[in-house]
Amino acid sequence: MTFSLAFLPGFSQNSGMSTSFETARLTALRNLLADREVDGLLVSGPSSRRYLSGFTAADPDCGMLLITQTAAVLLTDFRYQLWAQQEAAAFQVMIYQVSLGEILVELLKEFQVQRLGFEAAHLTYRQYQRLTETTASAGLQVEWRPLEGVVEELREVKGPEELAAMRRALELSEAVLRQVSRDLAPGKTERQVAWEIERGLREGGAESLAFPPIVAAGENSARPHHQPGDHVLILGEPILIDMGARLDGYCADITRTYILGPPDEQFKKIYTLVRRAQAHAEAELKAGLDSLAGDALAREVIAAAGYGEAFGHSLGHGVGLAVHENPALSSNQERRATLKAGSVVTVEPGIYLAGWGGVRLEDMVLLKPDGVEVLNRYLDFYEWD
Ligand code: ZN
Ligand code: ZN
Repeated sequence: MTFSLAFLPGFSQNSGMSTSFETARLTALRNLLADREVDGLLVSGPSSRRYLSGFTAADPDCGMLLITQTAAVLLTDFRYQLWAQQEAAAFQVMIYQVSLGEILVELLKEFQVQRLGFEAAHLTYRQYQRLTETTASAGLQVEWRPLEGVVEELREVKGPEELAAMRRALELSEAVLRQVSRDLAPGKTERQVAWEIERGLREGGAESLAFPPIVAAGENSARPHHQPGDHVLILGEPILIDMGARLDGYCADITRTYILGPPDEQFKKIYTLVRRAQAHAEAELKAGLDSLAGDALAREVIAAAGYGEAFGHSLGHGVGLAVHENPALSSNQERRATLKAGSVVTVEPGIYLAGWGGVRLEDMVLLKPDGVEVLNRYLDFYEWD
């Protein structure tokens, strides 16, 4: 029996109005599908789902996209029906009652998908089991192919509207960080400072936080990803703050390290070294560079001063709809790539000394063929003679 989509329950044709960038993204994705030798791709990661369709829901369980050379379908449930229809203008929105798999079976038949790509990093094992069981029990001969980095490859190079959103997210984040840093005072806890950041970002119009703020004081600042707690700020200890807003879907990510009262020689030395490593990397980074070479720029400065072991994470990461995305400025061979013009990456060297504390400084930069544009405006770093 041939199956026509028009007769499927829950099938709705939207207005057909779609923005040009969504259509351009679909075209680019379809070229990648051909390269990866699949007939269709199931997109379940929230950032990629939003990037391709314009559907802004962040819930990982609010639906998936099925994209083939001729079709673009958003499968979701009743809770998201109106929302999806309003936003995903280039997509046909289909509503499932019980499980997504039932409609997927019909779509795979209709579009004759035999090799179906899925996002290995985003489809859970349980979802995978259920969907493959459903297609198998329906008698479909579908080869499920785990893919990595397909939509992420497109997301790596930012368009003008994306850059504008990121600049707004960073501007808001910096305004809040500037105020919160002025209000730092002995007696406040890390958690109180984290709440001031959260409140400032929300009141400033953030859609959400890009990630839970890190406020790490004293010895806690030796933990690069500390969770703010009851530790009380005191004079003379490093205070590391890493924060960012999400605005119009796009993230900001910035770190500064502060000290209350006069700094000791150790803080001056470590801070100055981290800043020197960051400035060096920002001066030398550019599109076309190998990501391993990019990572090495700050690492060499820090290692030459004898602190190589104390800088145990990568130099930076791509930022966009997700706070961590491609490319990676990392020494990890598996993530090796040539840096592309139009990517936004962080430059965030740090030195962490157990029992003392740490210093990290993080900027966001736009990669260009001849260098970088530092997107930060809040650049008043400590300087001592
Ligand atoms: Zn950060
Ligand atoms: Zn970061």
